[in-house]
Amino acid sequence: MTLHQIPNTLQTDAFWMPFTANRQFKAAPRMFASAEGMHYTTVDGRKVIDGSAGLWCVNAGHGRRQIAAAVEKQLMNLDFAPSFNMGHPIAFDFAERLAAIAPKGLDRIFFTNSGSESVDTALKIALAYQRAAGQATRTRLLGRERGYHGVGFGGMSVGGMVNNRRAFATHLPGVDHIGHTYDLARNAFSKDLPAHGAELADDLERLVNLHGAETIAAVIVEPVPGSTGVLPPPQGYLQRLRQLCDKHGILLIFDEVITGFGRLGTPFAADYFGVTPDLMTTAKGITNGTVPMGAVFCSRKVHDGLMVGPENAMELFHGYTYSAHPVACAAGLATLDIYKDEGLLTRGASMAEYWRDALHQLKGLPNVIDIRNVGLMGAVELAPRKDAPGARGYELMVDCFNRGLYFRQSGDAVAVSPPLIVERSHIDEMVSILGDAIKRVA
Ligand code: PMP
Repeated sequence: MTLHQIPNTLQTDAFWMPFTANRQFKAAPRMFASAEGMHYTTVDGRKVIDGSAGLWCVNAGHGRRQIAAAVEKQLMNLDFAPSFNMGHPIAFDFAERLAAIAPKGLDRIFFTNSGSESVDTALKIALAYQRAAGQATRTRLLGRERGYHGVGFGGMSVGGMVNNRRAFATHLPGVDHIGHTYDLARNAFSKDLPAHGAELADDLERLVNLHGAETIAAVIVEPVPGSTGVLPPPQGYLQRLRQLCDKHGILLIFDEVITGFGRLGTPFAADYFGVTPDLMTTAKGITNGTVPMGAVFCSRKVHDGLMVGPENAMELFHGYTYSAHPVACAAGLATLDIYKDEGLLTRGASMAEYWRDALHQLKGLPNVIDIRNVGLMGAVELAPRKDAPGARGYELMVDCFNRGLYFRQSGDAVAVSPPLIVERSHIDEMVSILGDAIKRVA
C-alpha cells in the first residue's frame, strides 16, 4: 500500500467528526494523506494547495523537519512532567521566548492546550482578578455578536454564532453581547479596514447603562473575527473599545487564536492595531499546528493583581494536566525559531498588498457580494440561495477541493488565509481556481 491509498477495509462509522455534517461527508469523504510546504496530498494522490493554513494554524507551512526533530528529541528526553508543583526548564524557556515577542506588557504566560481552553482560562483569570481587586460584583462577561471563542461553556456563552449556541440550552449566566460590525450596506468591498463603524464600539456604553459598570468583569472580542467570515474591524473601532474599557474599569480580552503569530503581518493583531488588551488568548500557530497547545498572555497588572495573599497559597485555582506539556513546548520553541529565522511574523506585511489586489480581482463575478481582507486574511462572500443559506459556500468549497484548492468555508463566505510562506505564484493559483469555481457554482 502506498501512503496515499485508502485501505479498502477503511470503515468510517466509528469516528464522529467535529463540526461536520457526518452523514453527508461519509457519503463522499474528502481525505488528506500527507502534507508538505503549501500543499496537502489527498488519499488518491492529488496535490491540493492549502488556502487556510490548515485551520489558520500551519503558519510556517507543512512538514517542518525542525519541529519534528525537536518533538522526537523531547519525547525521548522528557516525555511528560507533572504540570503543577513540579517544573521543567523547557516550559520556562518557552514562556520567556513568548514574552519576548508579546505585545508590550503582556508578558506573563499561562499555558493551555487549545483555543477553547485559552478562552475559558482568560475569562476565569478576569473574574479572579476583579475579585482580588475588591470588585467582586464584577461577574458579568461580555462577548460580541458574530464572535467565535471556542466550544467550552465559557467560550460558547460569550460567542455569538447562533448555531453554536442554539443546540445547547444552557449558557453561563450573566453574559451579554455587544453588536457586531458586519455591515455590507456601508462597507462592502472595502479594502483592508472598513471606513465606517468605529461608533459601533459605543455599544459597550449601552450595556454599561443597562447592567452597570460595577457588574462587568471583561469584554472579549476577536480583533478580526475569523470563523464568522473574516470581518476586519472598522477603522478606530478597537481603539474606541479600549478607551471605553479603561473608562469603566472593564478588562479587555483579545482572542488572538487566529490573528496571533503573524497572520496580519505583525506578531499579534494588538501590534497591528496599536491597541493592547489586558489579556490575549492564543493557540494554533503557537506550535505551527503540530502539537495541541494554547497560551494566555496576561498583563502585569492582571498577573500581579493575583500574586497577593500568603506566599504559600496557590494564586489561581486553575490548570490542566497538559499545561506546558514538554513536547508542546519543544514544538513551540522550534516553531518560534523558524518564525524568527524566516521572518514569518512580519512577512505578511510585505505580501498583504499583493494578496488584497489579487482577491479583489474577483469582484464582479456572479453572486460575489463582498470581498474582505486584512494582512494575510481574506474572505469572499457569495449571495446566499434564498432557500438554502450556506449551500453556495459549500458547493464552492467542494468544487475548489476537487480542482486543487482547500479553504475553510463559513456559510456562504469562504475564508482564505494561507501559510505565511505563501509566494505570489501560490496566490495567483488560489485566486484563479477560486474565480473559476465561483463561475461554475453560479
Ligand atoms: N477562538 C478563536 C478566535 C478561534 O478561531 C478558535 C478556533 N477556530 C477558537 C477560539 C477555539 O480554538 P480550538 O478549536 O483550538 O479550541
